[in-house]
Amino acid sequence: MSPDRPLPDSRAEYDEAFWRGAAEGRLLVQECADCGARQLHPRPGCRSCGSGELGWLEAEGVGEVYAHTVIRRATEHPWFADEVPYVVAMVELPEGPSLWTTVVDCPPEAVEIGMPVEVTFEAVAEGIALPLFRPR
Ligand SMILES: [Zn+2]
Repeated sequence: MSPDRPLPDSRAEYDEAFWRGAAEGRLLVQECADCGARQLHPRPGCRSCGSGELGWLEAEGVGEVYAHTVIRRATEHPWFADEVPYVVAMVELPEGPSLWTTVVDCPPEAVEIGMPVEVTFEAVAEGIALPLFRPR
């Protein structure tokens, strides 16, 4: 039997909307009501000014690969042993923030800096979907 897939363990109040949006196929970015800064991943406070007044903006769902690496050896969790090789990438959104994610639906060696990508959501458990990206 294969090991259980590791799931996001944070269901904190400050990121509940992010995960609910992802489950609905929407990529949400935090936006500070005080200074306008935008951020991902979700945090309890604004990285720019420290305000706790954070709202949500729905991202278009496109971006570009800013940086990437290919994971060839699973070390952290046994579930990943069947996943290698896979790509971990930082994707920059036109809305401003970048997020760490995975690029799917293409060979790992095809991923390059500046590659246009779009979000796709993979449902991994009841009510939990992961925002991944694929070439566009
Ligand atoms: Zn702020």
